[in-house]
Amino acid sequence: MRKQHTSDASGALKYLHDIRKKDPMMYVSYTADESSRLQCLFWCNAESQLLYEVFGDVLAFDATYKKNKYLCPFVVFSGINHHNQAIFLGTAITIDETEETYVCLLEQFLEAMKGKNPCSIITDDNLAMRNAITRVMPGVFHRLNIKLRVIDCKEMVMFLVYMILKYCSGRVWRVSYCPSTVHFSCCCMRMQSIGLPCDYILAVLVCLNFTELPSSLVLNRWSKSATEGIKEKYPDSSMYWDSHLMGKYATLVQDSREVCEVAYRDQEEYDKMLHFLSNEHRSLKSKKNKQPCFNENHNQQDDNYDGILDPVIVCSN
Ligand SMILES: [Zn+2]
Repeated sequence: MRKQHTSDASGALKYLHDIRKKDPMMYVSYTADESSRLQCLFWCNAESQLLYEVFGDVLAFDATYKKNKYLCPFVVFSGINHHNQAIFLGTAITIDETEETYVCLLEQFLEAMKGKNPCSIITDDNLAMRNAITRVMPGVFHRLNIKLRVIDCKEMVMFLVYMILKYCSGRVWRVSYCPSTVHFSCCCMRMQSIGLPCDYILAVLVCLNFTELPSSLVLNRWSKSATEGIKEKYPDSSMYWDSHLMGKYATLVQDSREVCEVAYRDQEEYDKMLHFLSNEHRSLKSKKNKQPCFNENHNQQDDNYDGILDPVIVCSN
């Protein structure tokens, strides 16, 4: 049976205290007013503290509202790990959203994280939050999490036009969507100019409940198969199409350069190296010539262009 507590606040504190028995690194901190009412409760476990040590360069700080019985803001500190996944770095419940409350919260966070500041912090456009960051974490780069919202959708003959409002700027952007071809186009022309979908198109995708990028927004140039067509067309090409081959080529160039740098200073080493290289060159050339030749151009003997004459000089203005 659930144990009864004198208040929800004392129950929550007892619960967090019990977790600390199993997780000694668990950090719990709270403040109360003169009549002992809970004001600000912050907690984070050992895992969050360790994750912050590794991935704490970027910190996001976000409050959600009125989701609990006391209608208190619920604050989440989060970050991103090396798999680009969200990680929780700390959680808090506060009674309000004043600058003083955020200052108190950030101080609790810093104490839990042994004073380590993030390099940058991302928040909503909240003045109290912004001022608190300047006071508690001076010098930390502060970035706004600018939200986009679809405010209107007009139906045309073949497509739908979405109006997207960008908070803070007040500007509205237009994205058209053709359901039959799953084609998107935005007035910012980012897709047409650099081949990547913009935030406004992504906002429409979210609105339409797309769970992955439609193929119309993934240009072939970004795919693994981008050069496949050319490779098929020119199988005998001497160009290095993939990064694996490029890597091998770069290694050979680098190693040869290092050998040459040593060898050229010593006459004996120089002669030995030159002899080795010309032998190797000859053997590779004969090996290559034994391979069947598909290209007419390769039948031209050596680099002998002696028969080619200069063009006639033309008179021009
Ligand atoms: Zn756009």
